[in-house]
Formats: sequence, structure tokens, C-alpha cells
Amino acid sequence: MPAKTTTEPALDAELVYLTRALKAPTMREAIPRLAERARSDGWTHEQFLAACLEREVTARAAHGGELRVKAARFPARKSLEDFDFAHATAVKRDQVAHLGTLSFVTAKDNVILLGPPGTGKTHLAIALGIKACHAGHRVLFATAADWVARLADAHHAGRFPDEIKRLARYPLLVIDEIGYLPFEPEAANLFFQLISARYERASVIVTSNQPFSRWGEIFGDDTVAAAMIDRLVHHAEIVNIKGDSYRLKDRDLGRTPPAHTND
Ligand code: ADP
Ligand code: MG
Repeated sequence: MPAKTTTEPALDAELVYLTRALKAPTMREAIPRLAERARSDGWTHEQFLAACLEREVTARAAHGGELRVKAARFPARKSLEDFDFAHATAVKRDQVAHLGTLSFVTAKDNVILLGPPGTGKTHLAIALGIKACHAGHRVLFATAADWVARLADAHHAGRFPDEIKRLARYPLLVIDEIGYLPFEPEAANLFFQLISARYERASVIVTSNQPFSRWGEIFGDDTVAAAMIDRLVHHAEIVNIKGDSYRLKDRDLGRTPPAHTND
């Protein structure tokens, strides 16, 4: 009798039913191919079972990562691989590669990206955020102005403590563009409370086009700014980006013209 190489119709129908009940469509699709390989390569039953389960787990992990990316509300998709270190010469490859391991998220440390407009601060913040999503961390992205609006809404509705508690379930928050707009005193205060609540408990990535020395002006209060910077930088990687805007890289506008040219 020739060796049987395909499943019987009844068994096939049962596999369809069982994988549907388990909501495991990837495994369902993989079974015929894996069964072929198991027969030809002489896998044990356990090896075959592990191969089937592995397909499903991998598919779910990828799917979960994508769901977290959507939920995080990034304004664009960026990756560390697309970051051009030849343009951002002051940015150390090693430092960014280290950040890409996401050990800062597990350590509950912060990342602070400082530099002029167009130098890739948001790009790096998004790229790290997306990586964190794929690694299984929940992430939320918003501009500083949006965070402040959200915190003020919660405050006025009497649910500020609940909002802070809810945000504590996110291992990583991205706060983009501190410094583009000055904060009202109430906003500065709410923002400070957010940073305090996360201190040593969960990570934030912060971007700003202003050096720390100007944060007193942004927050309208030197003491609040100093207390916030203190908490932010205590356990933080600071990336100082210098140079011209990438947006203007193929135009002459981004560069200070040289004093003389010979032609
Ligand atoms: P910033 O937040 O510092 O103002 P962005 O991150 O928004 O700047 O960068 C502006 C645009 O230029 C984005 O499209 C970004 O992807 C791109 N960009 C900036 N720096 C780089 C870089 N070093 N390599 C590749 N793309 C870059
Ligand atoms: Mg930006």
C-alpha cells in the first residue's frame, strides 16, 4: 500500500473546525505543508506540533504589533533603518542602535531628543515607538500640545487621577514638540504631574527644538521647568542632534552660505 500523503476528508474537515474554534487561521493554512515536510523529513509528533504552533504564534505576534502601532497614533511611519546617519552626523550610530534594543523601556528610562527643526527628532521618536509596539509594548504618541489638551480635558472633567492611572498602563509615551508652543500655567502644572507620575515607573520619549536652558520660558516658570528636567533626565539617554533640516537637504536654503566662493 502506498504511504498516505494527504489527510482524509473527514480529518481535514475536523482540522478546519478545530483551527476555526481556536481562531488559528495561520496554523490551518500551514498544516498541509508542514505535514508534508514532517513526513518527508521524519519529524517526531512533537516537532510537527511545535512547527504548527510556532506559525500561529509568529503570525499573532506580528498582528499584535500592528494593532499596537495603529493604537499608538503615530503621525507617520518611520524606521531606524531609514535614518540617514550621513546627514545627521552628530548622531551616534551606536547610541541609536542601543536605543533600538529598547532596554530603556524595560529599565523605565527616558529618551530625550533635542535639536533644530527638521533634524529627525520626530523620525527617531516614531521609529523607536514602532519598534516598541512590535516588541509587545503599548505606546501612545502625541504632540506636547495634544497631551496638554488631553490632560486639561481630564482635569476639567474631574478625572485627572484616572487619566494618569490609565496612562500608567502604557510602558512608553511619546511627547513630541515641546517648545513649539509655550504652556499656560495650568497646562505646565498638569504636564509636570504627568512627568512626575511616570518618573522611575514608565518611559517617555520627549522631543524638543529648544535646549533645556530655554524650558523655563516654555513652561512660564523656571522652578517648574527645573523640577521637570530633573525628573526627565535622571534616568535618560539624551540625543543631541545638530545640523541642517533634512527637509531642506536638497535645496540651498538649509545651509548658511559660505562667506566666499571662488566661482
Ligand atoms: P524634527 O522632528 O526634528 O523637526 P522630522 O523627524 O519630522 O524632524 O524630520 C523631517 C523629515 O525629514 C521627516 O520626513 C524625516 O523622516 C526626515 N528626516 C529627518 N532627518 C532624517 C535623517 N537623518 N535620515 C532620514 N530622514 C530624515
Ligand atoms: Mg518633529
